[in-house]
Amino acid sequence: MPLTLHVATTNPGKLRDFATAAEQHAGEVEFLSLRGMEDIEPPPENGATFEENARSKAIEYSRHAPGCIVLADDSGLEVDALHGAPGVRSARYAADAGFAPDLLGTETDDTRNNLLLLKNMSGVAKDQRGARYRCVLAAARDGECIAVGDGAVEGTILDAPRGRGGFGYDPLFYLPELGQTMAEISLEQKHPISHRGNALRSLLAQIIPSNLEAL
Ligand code: IMP
Repeated sequence: MPLTLHVATTNPGKLRDFATAAEQHAGEVEFLSLRGMEDIEPPPENGATFEENARSKAIEYSRHAPGCIVLADDSGLEVDALHGAPGVRSARYAADAGFAPDLLGTETDDTRNNLLLLKNMSGVAKDQRGARYRCVLAAARDGECIAVGDGAVEGTILDAPRGRGGFGYDPLFYLPELGQTMAEISLEQKHPISHRGNALRSLLAQIIPSNLEAL
């Protein structure tokens, strides 16, 4: 019987990543969206690290699903030339800088975040544009964290977007080994190399059913 993991996210990009992961780990694990999470007040994401935020989200949401294993992640982009920014503030990068939504409401948060990243990286030399996506996934049950998985993927930041897939910073995140951005590859190509895929593999190695009794 597959191990059921309840994923606490409403981010459609992350849900697509988990759906692809489910296909690739078929029989081992199944992922269900955490039911009713829209009605739960989300815990504040004000930790200084991805791990702090992932742990507190998983612990809080698990209190609403007794006996279930609840997964929550925190992820983001660290850019070397920006001293690790946007980091834990990745989702709110442009909002923090005071970029207001446009009057017509046609721009998304992702668009504004990418515009600000391009602006802050303008003039940075090609060999100084290193960056990585990081993801920390925490699993909790009944208000207690039972495992944490960490994953990263290295790349560089382009000076113009490429590709229409993915979400977030994907059109600017270039993978030198593939010669493509994260927005140009398929979800099937993304899972084996991505920060979320790597964090999930690290987490699953700890919570496979034979190890659960010890947790
Ligand atoms: P979180 O919901 O606090 O984890 O915020 C994650 C933010 O980091 C997202 O809103 C994106 O801006 C960025 N991010 C994280 N993972 C990815 C990814 O796989 N692709 C593109 N952007 C990502």
